[in-house]
Amino acid sequence: MSEAKIRLYVVQPLGPGQAVRLSADQTHYLTGVMRLGVDAAVLLFNGQDGEWRATLAEAGKRGAVAVCEAQTRAQVMPPDLWLMFAPIKKARTDFIVEKAVELGVRRIMPVQTRHTNSERIRQDRLQAHAVEAAEQCGATYVPEVADLQPLDRVLAEFPAERTLYWCDEAAAGTPPMVGGTSGQAAILIGPEGGFAETEAKRLRGMERVRVLSLGPRILRADTAAVAAITLWQTAHGDWR
Ligand code: SAH
Repeated sequence: MSEAKIRLYVVQPLGPGQAVRLSADQTHYLTGVMRLGVDAAVLLFNGQDGEWRATLAEAGKRGAVAVCEAQTRAQVMPPDLWLMFAPIKKARTDFIVEKAVELGVRRIMPVQTRHTNSERIRQDRLQAHAVEAAEQCGATYVPEVADLQPLDRVLAEFPAERTLYWCDEAAAGTPPMVGGTSGQAAILIGPEGGFAETEAKRLRGMERVRVLSLGPRILRADTAAVAAITLWQTAHGDWR
């Protein structure tokens, strides 16, 4: 039996003997790029049933079908942490999505603030990045990437029981991650232009908001996202 190296995210249910028809892109990758044929082993996960070792029962021009044999990892959900950030340049936004998946978040929410650099995002492309990151980092869950939403609306609908860690560059120098509760949380990272005064005022007035300092220097938004998730994971997440 060959060793399974390739991990693929699928949407179908996984279980003993379950046959899974792979997408055209996955088929092309397995047969065209990786040159795998019938009987080759792959690893499959769907965000619910853990990771399964499967072997290719069909691998040809008309598609590929993998049949599940045994579970290789139990399902593990990342902590219930949302990453909310104002999208920046394409490559840096891609980086934020990729790193958030690797570091472990439940949901990724691009938000439009007053000074947000980009008016639009390609949600489908960012979601595909999240899938790829999960496939390569061994995660069994792919966080949903939400569509771009105005920050005002996100704050208006923000669940009362969720702690919001607001990364405020104006707080630079105060001690990081003081107190706080584990459980449901969200991190908010602003755009290159920082938060507008009206936004800062609104955030300061919210009950479940905690200001999070990321040290004495001003970080770029992509660095700030990685630093904030790391701090939260160490204090409250699944790294402990
Ligand atoms: N132009 C802004 C900085 C924006 S940095 C200014 O000069 O004030 C982008 C985002 O990263 C910020 O909105 C904030 O959310 C986060 N950030 C960067 N450095 C930070 C720090 N030292 N502490 C807390 N948040 C920080």
